[in-house]
Amino acid sequence: MPGNISFSDIELKTARSSRHALLREVGELGTQRIASLRVLILGAGGVGCPTALYLAEAGIAHITIADCDTVEPSNLARQILHTAKRIGINKAISAKIELEHLNDAVDVRAIPNRVNEEEIAALAQPCDLIVDCTDNFKTRHAANRAALRCRKPLITASAIRYSIQVAFFDFTQENSPCYACAFPEDDGSDVKASNVGVLAPASGIAGMIAAEEALKWAAGIRTLASSLLVLDTLSWEMQRITLAKMPDCACCSCRAKHTTNEAVPNKA
Ligand SMILES: [Zn+2]
Repeated sequence: MPGNISFSDIELKTARSSRHALLREVGELGTQRIASLRVLILGAGGVGCPTALYLAEAGIAHITIADCDTVEPSNLARQILHTAKRIGINKAISAKIELEHLNDAVDVRAIPNRVNEEEIAALAQPCDLIVDCTDNFKTRHAANRAALRCRKPLITASAIRYSIQVAFFDFTQENSPCYACAFPEDDGSDVKASNVGVLAPASGIAGMIAAEEALKWAAGIRTLASSLLVLDTLSWEMQRITLAKMPDCACCSCRAKHTTNEAVPNKA
């Protein structure tokens, strides 16, 4: 019976990465780099769930996923690692259960707490990359400062209403702008999907773009680095906005010019 066919761990790993290896830009070397990738994901919500799902299914080495909230019925439409049976359970723990079910070869660590800048920096140390999928401005900036301090690449992804925003800051590069260059910390508003709504697949798209960028970075392919991607799912118009360091950025202050535009941060 098909359901009873068994494969060795090596056979599964090879088959899982076979379509990646076919890509000229990835090849065997990129496949090996993806297999050794270690990622810290902040948030196991609407964006964090698909990010983690695709990274786990791609067969990366390790995922640390942090979230202090518990699964609620209103989460289920878009937070696709959680199930009705796990309502009331911490989201990071729920995500770990599902990720290990999807691919038990991936080492998953759940952090069921709210994390501050110091804790993010500590969690990021054994990881190669940080993906910020949180839903609040305060944690986004804490992640930015921690990533900058650790010199770890940072992908931020969000979706509110019909708007998806993904930005990539490669802090392994000396002149990378930071999140605060584009979205200064004191700008006041804090818009969340939980307050204004989001069509569930938009969260999924944001998470999948983040996972795609993480895999591309691991494989050594050109990424969105120093850019903000803005996608409107009503019009399907997409903008890629080049970012540069703000000379007076409170976080990374430097001499280069700032070229970001009027895009409104989702912060969710
Ligand atoms: Zn900056």
